[in-house]
Amino acid sequence: GNRSSVTVIGLGPMGKAMVSAFLNRGYKVTVWNRTSGKADELVTQGAISASSVNEALASNELVILSLTDYDAMYALFGSVSEKLYGKVIVNLSSDTPEKVREAAKWLTERRAWHLTGGVLASPSEIGNMESVTLYSGPSDIFEAHRKTLEVLTRTDYKGEDPGLAMLYYQIQIDVFWTAMLSYLHALAVARANGITAEQMLPYISEILYTLPKLLEFYTPRIDTSKHHGDVEKLAMGLASIEHVVHTSKEAGIDASLPAAVLDVFKRGIASGHADDSFTSLIEIFKKSSA
Ligand code: NDP
Repeated sequence: GNRSSVTVIGLGPMGKAMVSAFLNRGYKVTVWNRTSGKADELVTQGAISASSVNEALASNELVILSLTDYDAMYALFGSVSEKLYGKVIVNLSSDTPEKVREAAKWLTERRAWHLTGGVLASPSEIGNMESVTLYSGPSDIFEAHRKTLEVLTRTDYKGEDPGLAMLYYQIQIDVFWTAMLSYLHALAVARANGITAEQMLPYISEILYTLPKLLEFYTPRIDTSKHHGDVEKLAMGLASIEHVVHTSKEAGIDASLPAAVLDVFKRGIASGHADDSFTSLIEIFKKSSA
């Protein structure tokens, strides 16, 4: 028949959610996973389990990968290279922009198309349009498959450079993990003082709600490298983060996370930024990348 069809390789929590989303929308879905057994539940939902990577590739033009990293793609495709001819490989695994560019080249050499996707969603959010996936790669290939990819999440196409979607993704994930770890650290301090995560929820949410306004305020200043200390000075920030470090220690909590922040503030002061805004620390990061 004319049912749209797709192959999904990699059935971790994310791959499984993607398969379910396609099945719910009436797609014919062929699946494959290294560890067999992970397909069983999906087969009862209507998925077709391929018996090999070769078969999974042969079943559809559009092949979605949801693997731990890009090395896993080579592990799977290294020995089946000739089957890649003409395929559109949409890799929704995360890795570095450089790894992604290499993979796109590797696939191009095998006459396959590559699209990069950075999925900014948890598995439970797959299939609703509240979350987004960043894409890059050949625009005509993206356009040809956009409708299918939009079964999973909204799409945000960043351009032809295959590394670009992953770069945007990793920059967002940089914020995500450091923010989430600061959340856990704060809760450890709270818990050591007999305060639960539930009790802290409105308070931590409150501080996070203030951030978008602050980002709007600081964005033009950062882009023009104008680090006025008219609102806050680095010296004040240093004292403030020192209080956080000491509050952690008083609670008997590992202070290595706020201590790392304190260290950056100290280097900023040592570089002569005491009277500038904390945004001047972006120059410190620039220096340490050398
Ligand atoms: P998992 O690590 O749970 O699943 C990874 C899949 O990769 C499994 O099917 C695993 O197979 C397969 N795999 C790993 N290494 C190899 C290899 N060498 N050869 C063959 N297969 C391999 O990840 P998730 O499903 O959670 O996530 C998939 C991708 O989505 C990741 O890149 C992740 O960063 C990204 N992502 C995940 C989110 C989440 O909340 N889960 C959120 C946003 C993005 P096997 O079953 O045999 O181990």
